Amino acid sequence: MAPRPTDLLTLTREGLYCPPGDFHIDPVRPVPRALITHGHADHARAGHGAVLATPETLRIMAVRYGEEFCRTRQEARLGEAIRMGGVTVRFHPAGHVLGSAQVAIEQGGCRIVNSGDYKRARDPTCLGFEVVPCDVFITEATFGLPVFRHPVARDEVRKLLDSVRLFPERTHIVGAYALGKAQRVMALLREEGFSDPIYLHGAMEKLTDLYRREGIPLGETIKVVAAERPKLGGRIVICPPSAIQDLWSRKFPDPVTSFASGWMQVRARARQKGVELPLIVSDHSDWDDLCRTIRDTGAAEVWVTHGQEDALVHWCGTQGIKAKPLHMLGYGDEGEAEPEPQEPAGTSTAGPPAAESAA
Ligand SMILES: [Zn+2]
Ligand SMILES: [Zn+2]
Repeated sequence: MAPRPTDLLTLTREGLYCPPGDFHIDPVRPVPRALITHGHADHARAGHGAVLATPETLRIMAVRYGEEFCRTRQEARLGEAIRMGGVTVRFHPAGHVLGSAQVAIEQGGCRIVNSGDYKRARDPTCLGFEVVPCDVFITEATFGLPVFRHPVARDEVRKLLDSVRLFPERTHIVGAYALGKAQRVMALLREEGFSDPIYLHGAMEKLTDLYRREGIPLGETIKVVAAERPKLGGRIVICPPSAIQDLWSRKFPDPVTSFASGWMQVRARARQKGVELPLIVSDHSDWDDLCRTIRDTGAAEVWVTHGQEDALVHWCGTQGIKAKPLHMLGYGDEGEAEPEPQEPAGTSTAGPPAAESAA
């Protein structure tokens, strides 16, 4: 007899827990055994006993938290069946950031897929999302309202290049999350033929170097030296979102402030952050892609982890799909209210992964 989905995965204080496999997925507190979907700070935390994740995610965690981020680690190859206690686990690409994966858990003919964060839009810096047919699909709903429709990212990057051409004497400062978004923007700029060096805030360097080591071409990047800022007119600078409003950004010549985020679709948010050139570039699915993905999986039941849960749960109802919100805490839709994870001494230049789960 097939097990009930709630026997395979239940909600605990630490996050989703699989009793027959004795592991958590993306736990928000230290646990003995964790499966990690991707390297964003709200999903990948330091201090677990054993960690199972894709090789890329393990390397991202090591760069962020130091080699001692957990006691033991195991690499999950995409598609490989891994036996964990009474269940079989498989990782499949999620299209969110480098190394991001969905986790499929299977026992006795019941399959649950926890997608983690995911997107369907093209991204030159990671593998595309793979549809995994399942009985229960677990989805986020960061942009789970019908008003959220993300434009094509490459058109947004063209807006940035148009502005650089229009204001050749001004520095364009682009806020972007340090893991994933920053590298995606760089890769898209290169695809559009932009070949000048791209200047990076110190906080973007380590992860950008890691992407490069993983074989993602990003062209020439140069770390911004404080004293050089007044000379960077006409250049594109990428920095953490928090830095665009900082004193740090005021030393550039007549800066144009920009922010690459799905939230830039909300004009009030762009205004409130003092963003002159909002770029709607999201690493999450928009409303249409959330709905399409749920349909594609063929799931009879959907659990919504966090974000705008209610609208998506309601939509599932209209499609005859059973759905429930999990109201999970600790996962940022925007991440900016999250505490910064502690990093080992001496690595503070890795910057604040805090603001990053998002958008
Ligand atoms: Zn997240
Ligand atoms: Zn994420």
